[in-house]
Amino acid sequence: MSDSKIKLAIVGVGKIVRDQHLPSIEKSNAYDLVATASRNAMIEGVNAYKDIESMLIAQPEIEAVALCMPPQYRYSVAKFALEQGLDVLLEKPPGATVCEVEQLAELAKQHNARLYTTWHSRHAAAVESAKLFLATDGVKINGAEIRWNENVRKWHPNQNWIWKAGGLGVFDPGINGLSILTHVIPESFHVESAHLYFPENKAAPIAAEIGFRTVTGEAVNGVFDWRIKGDEQWDIEIHTNQGVLGLTNGGSKLWLDRELIEEPQHSEHGEYETIYANFAEVVNNHVNHIDLRPLKLVADAFLLANRTTVEAFED
Ligand code: NAP
Repeated sequence: MSDSKIKLAIVGVGKIVRDQHLPSIEKSNAYDLVATASRNAMIEGVNAYKDIESMLIAQPEIEAVALCMPPQYRYSVAKFALEQGLDVLLEKPPGATVCEVEQLAELAKQHNARLYTTWHSRHAAAVESAKLFLATDGVKINGAEIRWNENVRKWHPNQNWIWKAGGLGVFDPGINGLSILTHVIPESFHVESAHLYFPENKAAPIAAEIGFRTVTGEAVNGVFDWRIKGDEQWDIEIHTNQGVLGLTNGGSKLWLDRELIEEPQHSEHGEYETIYANFAEVVNNHVNHIDLRPLKLVADAFLLANRTTVEAFED
């Protein structure tokens, strides 16, 4: 039945492709991975090209592409793919700017192609349960805190793009927390204040503090810091009239009033397996899946922020 599988290609083969995309594609029955396009990298046993143009000339049967290069280099490739009528999966963040992704959404409509802006952290094991809890009749949110604090040297060694304009700096992981928060909190919130800390030799922040405000007036405070040497934190705490809901470990554990209520047993690649199951639905059912809220919040933080220059960062 391989004819009914989606003929998929990956563009931009790097860390996340090897860590997550390949194992999830291999586990899925929905795809044939027929090619890659990457300037330097290749995957053993898969046809390899240097760029998307030569790949599509050689293999016009390709139906869908997963774009996994850094965000600053994604727009032109996504535009080309949509113009050829291909369905497109965008790694997070979906682009370097809000408007370029909105343009891609327009292009998808014009060319009868589909666009999927992925937010992998939304598929962490306990996120849906938190969303259900917060959507329950009678639950009222009184405020929230998000702490996304990690050691940049451990997770992003020698990733130059991440420190360049458009690379997002500490928001590269931080936007994952915001993708969870925008998914689970039923009401909208906006950036009210922001403070960004830029190393004197970098164009992207190493730390940030953001004050958000929900539409009902509740405060949501965010701390994002890449300078952590000890215990790392990828945690969200939501204060409600029914107790304090904690989503810890990047959304994989759920607590109520500090009592663990959910630690589902997902496989190691659970988040990306869900992404590829969703993308198969996007392609087969011809539906777009576009959500820019996390990117808009980060963009607004850059717009509104006071800035402090801190000591240079060397890898
Ligand atoms: P990466 O390994 O540094 O880069 C991915 C690949 O993109 C590189 O191997 C490179 O392949 C290509 N590339 C790099 N610079 C490029 C440029 N200037 N122009 C065109 N292509 C370029 O990055 P990554 O960690 O996989 O992250 C890629 C995306 O996935 C980011 O948006 C990131 O936020 C997201 N993500 C990463 C992780 C993670 O744990 N790393 C987790 C979730 C999501 P070639 O040299 O062969 O072209």
